[in-house]
Amino acid sequence: MVAEIISGKEIAESIRAELKDEIAKLKAEKNLTPGLGVILVGEDPASQVYVGQKSKGCEEVGIFEETIRMPEDTSEQTLLDKINELNNDPKFHGILVQLPLPKHIDEKKVINTISPEKDVDGFHPVNVGKLMIGEKAFLPCTPHGVQQMLIRSGNDPAGKHVVVVGRSNIVGKPMTNILLQKKDGANATVTICHTGTPDISKFTKEADIVIAAAGRPNTITADMVKDGVVVIDVGVNRVDAPETKRGFRLVGDVDFEAVKEKAKAISPVPGGVGPMTVTMLLVNTTESAKRTLG
Ligand code: NAP
Repeated sequence: MVAEIISGKEIAESIRAELKDEIAKLKAEKNLTPGLGVILVGEDPASQVYVGQKSKGCEEVGIFEETIRMPEDTSEQTLLDKINELNNDPKFHGILVQLPLPKHIDEKKVINTISPEKDVDGFHPVNVGKLMIGEKAFLPCTPHGVQQMLIRSGNDPAGKHVVVVGRSNIVGKPMTNILLQKKDGANATVTICHTGTPDISKFTKEADIVIAAAGRPNTITADMVKDGVVVIDVGVNRVDAPETKRGFRLVGDVDFEAVKEKAKAISPVPGGVGPMTVTMLLVNTTESAKRTLG
């Protein structure tokens, strides 16, 4: 069996096209323009790239976006005051503070200061808790994107055994909570593995769907999965590649070439989960704006 490739790039493009239409209608019929405020503290090069991608995505679909750049030595209180200003500004339906933050700023305090109604990253404890108990919440963008990739590629997780590798607060845990909801596009039996799992292959071999979010190349190899498995690779890892201009290339957590020979469907890196993450931020911001209509 040679796997079908689940292209996050193509799925993201189709979601963005749908959003563009929806936002045009919101503007024309309800006089409502979704707005996103992005706060970037410092000059971290990777963060600058991510913020640029978010800004470009907003422009593409018609979301009003403002990036607020603050210097590296911004005090914690100045940042919290800025967040409160955005919390109280009705033109922003979503607020995102780009992580990581400089060391002198308490990340938890910052996340807790964003109004849960504008927390389009889904990191505020109120949204985390709501997701856990099955109430309407903003879903963290990366696992939300993975769920859409499964549904839209015809691999509905309902009734399937899903093994998630990784238990971080931004990927593994919310992924698990999303897929075990008693709802359409979820309703799966979920196992979560981590570094405390003595033999993850014992579980991955039984999985109908494997979601790899460990942040290590070759965490999932062909001998660890069954024939016909569906694999979503969340990992993004730099490996040395002196022959390339940049000196490195990006790989996922899955031995893609070998696993694709056994899998029914598999997502690549790059071009898999990556493009979905920003797209789901746009979806969450639009959803937040729609909630103001009551
Ligand atoms: P993280 O905070 O480092 O968490 C990694 C998790 O994987 C931890 O729970 C860790 O277990 C577990 N783990 C690590 N090695 C393992 C192994 N060999 N076997 C089993 N479990 C293992 O990372 P993250 O933020 O969740 O991100 C995971 C990966 O996804 C990274 O490569 C990241 O770059 C990528 N990512 C991609 C996107 C995107 O948009 N494409 C977004 C977010 C993250 P312990 O808890 O026991 O330490």
